[in-house]
Amino acid sequence: MPNYKTIKGTHDLLPGQMDKWREVESQCLAITKQFGYQEIRTPVFESTELFQRGIGSDTDIVTKEMYSWKDQGGNRLTLKPELTAPVARAYIQHQMGNQNPLQRLSYYDTLFRRERPQKGRQRQFYQFGAEAIGSPHPEQDAEIISLAYTIYKSFNIQNMIVKLNSIGSAEIRPAYLSHLRNTLQSKKQKLCNTCKTRLEINALRIFDCKNQSCQEILDTHAPLIFHSISEDDKRHFDTVMDILTSTGIPFEHDKKLVRGLDYYSHTTFEVTSQSLGSQDALCGGGRYDGLIQQLGGKYVPAVGFAAGVERLLLAMTKNNAAVKFPLVYMLLLGEQVIKKGSELVQELRKTTGKTIVMETLRRSMKAQMREAGRCNAEYSIILGENELNSRMVVVKHMESGEQYEVPFSDLSAWFSVK
Ligand code: AMP
Repeated sequence: MPNYKTIKGTHDLLPGQMDKWREVESQCLAITKQFGYQEIRTPVFESTELFQRGIGSDTDIVTKEMYSWKDQGGNRLTLKPELTAPVARAYIQHQMGNQNPLQRLSYYDTLFRRERPQKGRQRQFYQFGAEAIGSPHPEQDAEIISLAYTIYKSFNIQNMIVKLNSIGSAEIRPAYLSHLRNTLQSKKQKLCNTCKTRLEINALRIFDCKNQSCQEILDTHAPLIFHSISEDDKRHFDTVMDILTSTGIPFEHDKKLVRGLDYYSHTTFEVTSQSLGSQDALCGGGRYDGLIQQLGGKYVPAVGFAAGVERLLLAMTKNNAAVKFPLVYMLLLGEQVIKKGSELVQELRKTTGKTIVMETLRRSMKAQMREAGRCNAEYSIILGENELNSRMVVVKHMESGEQYEVPFSDLSAWFSVK
């Protein structure tokens, strides 16, 4: 017999987990909406070239991790491994800049990367995030960071650190990169193989390396890009920090935090949580003023962040920030009450908007009450022959055990104020 299992690095979301997922999704989207961001959803696959240009053809994602194929028509396609490039593509394709000089966009979507699976790192995973396209100003960077922070705070995530840096504007980069390359050339033999290549192609990305010996070389020898940024760049960064300070968002200036591609500039940031272990990044983001142009649009400044949903859920479990769901369980005692019970349940769902679950296994009263407890019902409603005759039900508050007799005709009103 075949023994089918999920593919390595993918997982099922079982019913017990889905409620929590939906709750997280709606809370993330509600907060992004509160900040004025509107949701966008792009297709699951796009042209491979979009990601090569949009993520960078020398990045790990593009060289090793994409699920790509050629379809029957010979088109090179890829399951999306990130969302900024597709959102930027949509922005250009639908001329969104003509509708509004500033587009605030948010997303909640699934991505695919062929990475080595481990805790907090899957091959299919979910991200939520936001992109503000159109403003070059530091208050926009601060808004994006504040949005990410507010979302994590709303889930009561503890041990959270916002790390922040500036890599300055694109003009200062060529001189800095040649300085960095020259400095590291004599240490090349001690770098890992990936960083040896990075040194030639894009030396800034060596800062992203997780290898301890590469980090030690950087710590002792590498000049930091922050020390090369211009006075204007510094002013931009100071304003971001001032706004964050005045709005009560704690952060650390981490001068090694960089984004290695040409179209990134100014602010880079990351939110980490110490409770996550080795994969401690909750989200990453920054300013990418050159991307829209790189993908064929006009020059439009932009800033955004992308956050892993699995990592958020892991951090929530560690912090016991589990979400609770109010639910009402309708107990039906005897075949003769099924019709009336179904009618009441339908009516209650319509009038109260609450989750109402009705017994359909015809179990004993004791077993039905146990079931109500198992699914964490806030209230149970008991409908038996006596209740049917007296045209009222018994409503039980599960935690306190208190019981109330409520006439059928008052039931909707009774629950509406609960
Ligand atoms: P990135 O798009 O690489 O900047 O990642 C942004 C965020 O997505 C990270 O901070 C993680 O929270 C999450 N993330 C990235 N890759 C994975 C993965 N393979 N599995 C789960 N979450 C991920």
